[in-house]
Amino acid sequence: MLFERQKQLGRKLAASGGGRCNLTNTLEPAALTRRFGPRGRFMIPALQRFSRNDLLRRMQEWGVPCAAEDGFHYFPVSQCAEDILKALEYRLRKLKVQIRLECRVEALDLKDGKIHGLRTDSGSVRTPAVVVAAGGVAWPALGGCSLGYTLAQQAGHDIVEPTPALVGLTTLEKWPHQCAGVTLPEATAWMDLPGFRKSITRGILLFTHDGVSGPLILDLSGQVTTQLRQQPSVPLKVCLQPDLSRETWRNQIEEWRIARGKKTVRNLVGEIFPHSLAFALCDACGLDPDVPASRMTAPTRDRLIDWLTAVPLTIIGSAGLKQAMVTRGGVALKEIDPATLQSRRVQGLFFAGEILDLDGPCGGYNLQWAFSSGGLAGYSAAVEGARK
Ligand SMILES: Cc1cc2nc3c(=O)[nH]c(=O)nc-3n(C[C@H](O)[C@H](O)[C@H](O)COP(=O)(O)OP(=O)(O)OC[C@H]3O[C@@H](n4cnc5c(N)ncnc54)[C@H](O)[C@@H]3O)c2cc1C
Repeated sequence: MLFERQKQLGRKLAASGGGRCNLTNTLEPAALTRRFGPRGRFMIPALQRFSRNDLLRRMQEWGVPCAAEDGFHYFPVSQCAEDILKALEYRLRKLKVQIRLECRVEALDLKDGKIHGLRTDSGSVRTPAVVVAAGGVAWPALGGCSLGYTLAQQAGHDIVEPTPALVGLTTLEKWPHQCAGVTLPEATAWMDLPGFRKSITRGILLFTHDGVSGPLILDLSGQVTTQLRQQPSVPLKVCLQPDLSRETWRNQIEEWRIARGKKTVRNLVGEIFPHSLAFALCDACGLDPDVPASRMTAPTRDRLIDWLTAVPLTIIGSAGLKQAMVTRGGVALKEIDPATLQSRRVQGLFFAGEILDLDGPCGGYNLQWAFSSGGLAGYSAAVEGARK
């Protein structure tokens, strides 16, 4: 039996990847789990039970071939997330799974450390095995809620405080708003705090009306929002052109000074970056808008180079859980057996997907985890059910 409190199944899945569903990627399990951080090792048995290749083979068998046309991100060839959902629904119906829509699971029926059944808003069901795959709290408009955490807590599980991840960040500085919509294809970013310099991310940077976003920032956002719980703001550094060193910039500016001295510095910077970004950046770092390259002083040049290689931003918030693509936090892993995804507290209780305290970056990581953990938890629950 499958219980879904919403009117339709899989609303988040159908909206994923901008409606195209980036369901997995080309990484091998060891590399994939590393991108989830130190807790990623927990995922290994699930990835062994239901791997990327198992997922892609099933989709192919069910009439939804998928391909990684860019060499990394797998999407259905039809570019339609609904096709994945339809294939899963078709399988459910073929297997004669009873689907209860608009049916909320409200409590677990527990006795002597075992599952005996569950209670919904429209009646009770007896069962020796339950898989809680209730997702996280992110993006409530697509179904994110904390009901799954309540069920886990009822069974005695700890919940690691949920925070938004894969979410746009809000800057104290107003200048990024002036270039809203500008993207840079390959920037890097890091939290400018002791001990965080190593966790540098690289990818597309997008300036927004509130601050910064794009895959580069989304991948870093979970760390930043976690840090924001302890301090009111977090310093971030962004390198707009990681392939250009300080030395290269110094040579470039020197060349401008000699060969193109009459042009304003900000117009010259505007030949490298989009104009709105070049102007906003030069203003923000205190450059006189009319200064020609030939009259630039050494301290001003050095400050400009500081900014071009590491723009300082102050993050004061995020777009919040409302627009977070994933939840950081959830059911603590220490009380779950990774080999079966069974609760160590309650026999017959299993967890799968985003409800667990695991989240990955952008790029098919989170859905691969949802599918693999769903595969393992479902298999383990079936074994448990058959034992009874
Ligand atoms: C806009 C958006 C785009 C995304 N794009 C991608 C992408 O391209 N690639 C990727 O890898 N990841 C993507 N993600 C993340 C990915 O969609 C989620 O991590 C994944 O859907 C989690 O799967 P899940 O089954 O654990 O939870 P969910 O998909 O959230 O499903 C949980 C379901 O349980 C239901 N439920 C909750 N509590 C109860 C209850 N008590 N009783 C009955 N039903 C209940 C909910 O209504 C919900 O439908 C995206 C997320 C968002 C929000």
